[in-house]
Amino acid sequence: MKILLLGAGGFIGVNLTERLLKDGVHEVTAVDIYKDKLNEIEDPNLKYVELDICTDEAALEQAVIDHDVIVDLVAFANPALYVEDPLGVFELNFIENLKIVELCSKHSKRIVQFSTCEVYGRTSASTVGWDPKDHPQPFVEDETPLIMGPIKNHRWIYASAKQLLERVLHAYGIQKGLNYSIIRPFNFVGPRIDFLPSEQAGNPRVFSHFMNGLLYGTPMQLVDGGGNFRAYTYIDDAVDCIVRILENKDGKCDRQIFNIGKPDNELTIAELAELMKKIFNEHFRQDGDPDPEIVDVSAEEFYGEGYEDCDRRIANIDKARELLGWEPEYSTYDVIFKTMEYFVNKHRAKQGEAPVEA
Ligand code: UDP
Repeated sequence: MKILLLGAGGFIGVNLTERLLKDGVHEVTAVDIYKDKLNEIEDPNLKYVELDICTDEAALEQAVIDHDVIVDLVAFANPALYVEDPLGVFELNFIENLKIVELCSKHSKRIVQFSTCEVYGRTSASTVGWDPKDHPQPFVEDETPLIMGPIKNHRWIYASAKQLLERVLHAYGIQKGLNYSIIRPFNFVGPRIDFLPSEQAGNPRVFSHFMNGLLYGTPMQLVDGGGNFRAYTYIDDAVDCIVRILENKDGKCDRQIFNIGKPDNELTIAELAELMKKIFNEHFRQDGDPDPEIVDVSAEEFYGEGYEDCDRRIANIDKARELLGWEPEYSTYDVIFKTMEYFVNKHRAKQGEAPVEA
């Protein structure tokens, strides 16, 4: 199978590219405007094409024609950006993505579209004033309503753009026979996730902020007390599921939406901070390393106006289990340990120090 990976240079794309190259079963073309993370792949069969999907329309169309399956990973996927640049998020995550959908329909190609668990929005418990802590409500792909906050909280433009794209794909499926599969990732974490804010300007996701604290001593900030939940999924577990969806044995994934997550890995952001500190102190601490404080910060201070949080995100993964025989394996501890180890080793290599002993 010839697979076109659009947005292969991001966190999910680079890990997926590496796995597909290792399997050696399919022909893979990795497309992106950035190559930094792909440079870490040492496989001689890596075929990289620098192409901006927003401007190189003819090249994009030819690439779609030349492949069997198109994987669309192109997106801004960082909450700080949803607040800072809502229009940019809409333009890339909807307008530009729509062009890819149209090309796949025009040339009768199957598309695997990356969406987000944010399409579920908030839990219905929190909208009626219940504490989400006491009301676990796993999100089910084809059943759960999608609940967004008010327009003034423009963070939801990301989730709304992704939701509309899903609805458009569904409509193309019904009216034009487009074959698609939609993936809703639930907080994938692992090597190469994000940059550290001390090393590159910007506001990445929480893991990098906390890691930055442990390596550089900046405070580990809990937004609004860090009481909201996340369930972290190790990237290797996720990629294993994604490959099954790409391969689409017996057409089981035709026009299906899949949650990919590890529901029993739930913890609050405050617990994540404590766990990362504990792991760092027990396994990675060296003389002279900082000991960051854990502090509270308001969402407005941290993100600016227009932020609202998803209170609890639990994936129901029965569909992936039943149709694909997939089961995620990595526990919370292992997910966090392995990802921290990657960052610590990268940091040590930069300082000319030896890696963590296995
Ligand atoms: N968060 C935090 N401290 C930080 C960065 C984020 O407490 O330094 C919170 C954020 O408000 C959210 C959670 O951590 O509740 C996860 O945020 P992240 O940016 O990782 O992305 P998300 O899971 O919301 O997509």
